[in-house]
Amino acid sequence: LKAIVYNGPRNFVVEERPDPHPERGQVLIRPLVVGLCFSDKQGYEGSGANGALRAPAGVIGGHEIAGEIVELGAGVEGLEVGQRVSVDPRVYCGECLPCRAGVETLCSVGRKTVGWDPGFDGGLAELCVVPSYACFPLGDNVSMEAGACVEPMTCATRSIRHCGLRIGDNVVLLGGEDYNLFGAKWLRSAGASQVVLVDPAEHRREAALSMGAHQALGTGDGLVARIRESMPIGPDIVMVAIEDYVAESDPG
Ligand SMILES: [Zn+2]
Ligand SMILES: [Zn+2]
Repeated sequence: LKAIVYNGPRNFVVEERPDPHPERGQVLIRPLVVGLCFSDKQGYEGSGANGALRAPAGVIGGHEIAGEIVELGAGVEGLEVGQRVSVDPRVYCGECLPCRAGVETLCSVGRKTVGWDPGFDGGLAELCVVPSYACFPLGDNVSMEAGACVEPMTCATRSIRHCGLRIGDNVVLLGGEDYNLFGAKWLRSAGASQVVLVDPAEHRREAALSMGAHQALGTGDGLVARIRESMPIGPDIVMVAIEDYVAESDPG
């Protein structure tokens, strides 16, 4: 198969690799849509935490994956060849206390991520092996593009669940990255009164309005006054998703 491999900062290469095969409990999928998120960008630039490349060299990238099941490993039940699935990129033991408590991200055996960790190649390839428990079948009315957005969307879902929102709160979203765009949608469903998103880029402001923000403002002079027009005593909650702007203006 052909795959996009991380070889170091600003060095992604297309490589020929042997076709992978699913082991027991695993599924072989053909990735059809793979999202590139900010962490992929950091991996590419080598600008991740502490300036280090976050994905080790040699790993096939891509963790926001939607694809089609090509082959089932031994013992896999409840999935079928040909099924369209969204993939949860987390790999965990499923048996330790955190896993059984539903916080698999804290797996005490050591959580791995498809598309990041050595031995867990991602979806930027013609084929990709993932655990069967990571596959979530998509309904016929769900596009592959939407399927690939499930991973970033669930990050936003979690942040809204934990942000302490009360019905009627006013919220300001700083930055129109995907987390805050999905956040705008969830905040409206969860009962926020006013949702105002701030971003310098017009296309992101338009996206924010289409996702349910009441208002989308550019940055610049008078921003606080403009926010206070819709929430005179200021926001109850401010959510920040400005990683890419911060990285561009100040690598520290
Ligand atoms: Zn991501
Ligand atoms: Zn575990």
